[in-house]
Amino acid sequence: MAGREEKKEEKKEKKVHVSKGKRKKKKHALSRKYKMYTIQGDKVVARKRHCPRCGPGIFLAAAQNRAFCGKCAYTEFASSTAAATTAAGKK
Ligand SMILES: [Zn+2]
Repeated sequence: MAGREEKKEEKKEKKVHVSKGKRKKKKHALSRKYKMYTIQGDKVVARKRHCPRCGPGIFLAAAQNRAFCGKCAYTEFASSTAAATTAAGKK
């Protein structure tokens, strides 16, 4: 009888895992984060700019004339770097 109970627990765990409803994460060969950095001597320098809202670690995607954060939708225009606007919910 003890063996049966163990099986039940296994099933329960599986169900909980699925019921979260989140997408399965795809495994990347190597994290793309590391492509954003270059090594200069003994320093690690970020190639792209970080998102001021999300903080370091979240990079701004470079478009033609603006930089865009994919996480919080923060957008920074190249013509006026000081003035930043959010494009969230627009269009
Ligand atoms: Zn952000």
